[in-house]
Amino acid sequence: MPSSRRDFMKTAAAAFAVTAAGVLPDRAAAATPPVDKDLEGVIEMHVHADPDVRARCVDQLTLTQQCQRNGYRAILYKCHDFCTADNAYLLRSMVPGIEVFGGIVLNLNYGPKVNVQAARMATKITGRYCRCIWMPTYQSAFDMRGKGTPGVPVLDESGKVLPEVVKVMELCRDENIIFATGHSSPEECVILSSKAKEVGVAKFVVTHSTQAPWLLSMDQARKCLENGAYLEHCVLPWYKGQHSLLPKYFNARQTTMKEFAGYIALDPSRQFLATDCGMARMPGPVDAMRDFIHGLRDAGVSEKDLDTVSRRVAAGLLGLD
Ligand SMILES: [Zn+2]
Repeated sequence: MPSSRRDFMKTAAAAFAVTAAGVLPDRAAAATPPVDKDLEGVIEMHVHADPDVRARCVDQLTLTQQCQRNGYRAILYKCHDFCTADNAYLLRSMVPGIEVFGGIVLNLNYGPKVNVQAARMATKITGRYCRCIWMPTYQSAFDMRGKGTPGVPVLDESGKVLPEVVKVMELCRDENIIFATGHSSPEECVILSSKAKEVGVAKFVVTHSTQAPWLLSMDQARKCLENGAYLEHCVLPWYKGQHSLLPKYFNARQTTMKEFAGYIALDPSRQFLATDCGMARMPGPVDAMRDFIHGLRDAGVSEKDLDTVSRRVAAGLLGLD
């Protein structure tokens, strides 16, 4: 079948599916050119949306449409408890014109140890849109410290990277997808980055590297970069502190735009932006991305570096270029 006809059938099927679900297809809005040049071609590398087990401000279908309308090139969904690569396959046929990817976080849902089998199966889901395997997040050994349960560890007692974690590194190397640190501690991130270098992982990412309590010191950031890591910067901690909309963030540490800019200056070619938004009662992910880009510009990040951290690095990590 010629591709134009195939595309038409795909679009028609998607429109039918959306209408059948009781939501009108957003055709007119999709034809409107993006109004904000800053968002054109950007890539969202860390965002949460419904369906989820935590309260979110938007669902994946609505957010994918919003991002597409605003000219985004791609979006990578993260869920702490379930794989998102399967939904990525469906979202692509429902919202043409944007690349959608997913991944898996190896939290307790997949067992008390990092589950290599779950990671391997995620890479095989229809479409092969799994682009990231995250180490444990809310149930990491670091996040569970002092809570009476051990959490899912990445290192053994002597500080060595556990064999199952090395196996996931090998999987990410062989599939050429991202291995991300999740909620590993800053010290663990440095150790993991040096192991990843030894294993030959090309796409090793330190997740929200500028967000307390996972915040890397400048020295740790340099060490990770020397080991070939990429640093992810999420705007979420900029919304933390006394001015936050969420009471639970009032006493949390804010990361300022100047601080983000300081890390980016280390080596923009190995760092990228994301929002980590989608949480209920917080700014929506598209507005958050806009805040991030405008804020970094005001903090002195050059147009060239903004382009690198909002588009180019992420495109390479997702295998788009
Ligand atoms: Zn997150």
